[in-house]
Formats: sequence, C-alpha cells, structure tokens
Amino acid sequence: MLSELLKKKSLFHRLYTIDKQSAKKCKEMPCPHCGGPLHFANYPRKPRGEPDGIPEEYFIRFSLCCGHEGCRCRVMPPSCRFMDRKVYWHVVILIIISEYQNKETNIFKLSKLFTVSRNTIARWIDFYKNIFPSSPQWQMIRGQVATSIKNSELPANLVNYFLSFKSCTKDALVSCLRFLSLGSEFHQKIRAG
Ligand SMILES: [Zn+2]
Repeated sequence: MLSELLKKKSLFHRLYTIDKQSAKKCKEMPCPHCGGPLHFANYPRKPRGEPDGIPEEYFIRFSLCCGHEGCRCRVMPPSCRFMDRKVYWHVVILIIISEYQNKETNIFKLSKLFTVSRNTIARWIDFYKNIFPSSPQWQMIRGQVATSIKNSELPANLVNYFLSFKSCTKDALVSCLRFLSLGSEFHQKIRAG
C-alpha cells in the first residue's frame, strides 16, 4: 500500500531537498515586482502526518522577500511538501485520497490509520472533486500529462500515471509531487505587508 511510504524518513528528505533546490533557484531571480534582490525569509510550519524523528529543518517553508526598501514583495518558491495552508503534508493528503479513490480502503479505516478526522478527509475529497480540476494550478500543468487522466478521478489517476512508468513507488510519488508543485508557481507572487 502507498501509505507504507509515509513511514519512510527518506521520502521526507527527498521532498525537502527538492524544495531547497527550488528555493535557491528562485532566489537567483530578481524580484518580480521591482527587480530588486531577493532574500530568504523562511518560516516554520507544523504540518501533520510525518514519521517520528524527522529533522526540524524539514518543517521550514522556504520564502523570499525583496530587499528593496518600499517594495518588500514576498515570493513563495514552489513546494512539494506543503499544499497551500492545509494542515497535513501534501504527500499525506495525496496518499490518503489516492487510496480512497483506488478503493483500497474506506474513509473510516483511513481516519483511524492516520488519525485524521473523517470530516477532514471528506473536505479533501470535495477539494479534488470540485475545486482542484478547475484551479489555475491544474490548468497550467494539465497539458503536460496524458489526456487519459480524468479530472473526475484526481489525484489518484495522476498518482497511478506516475506509478505506471517508475519502477520505484517512492520515485513515482516524488515525481508526482514535484509535477504538482510546478503549477503552484502560477500564484506565488504575493505582496507582503
Ligand atoms: Zn521588489
């Protein structure tokens, strides 16, 4: 089962490393608002669902802030660990909903296994059914994957798509999360203060 992966610290390490590289790349770019230099303005988050004992640095959300006085534009580099403001790690949400959609288990069992309330799982299902398919994030990257991936079966069929051409389950999941994070660049330019 996919959920076995959530016990692996190495998965969280991989996702952290990818985010770190993306943040470094973003930092080399000028401020999208005024062309000024970008500086790190990272902050800690408290997502849920990780295995015990993962390093504190994995909880850091990379963030950049323009150094020009009077601009202070904040740029959020893409992240494959965090999903907007959702409380759980993106990988946890992706796996729980995929297992549900692949009919490997039911909400009651998932809720017990991951100590996530059934209401929260129901909200995630609703998000993938009614919000995500028409979001700019999905619209931006949708054309890069097979047309056989149906909007009505997201995210499970996207996860299954990556699983179909990777021999390692962990690699497939990492690729899927990295792919999803690309779309998040679209709405990452927000002004601070
Ligand atoms: Zn600026």
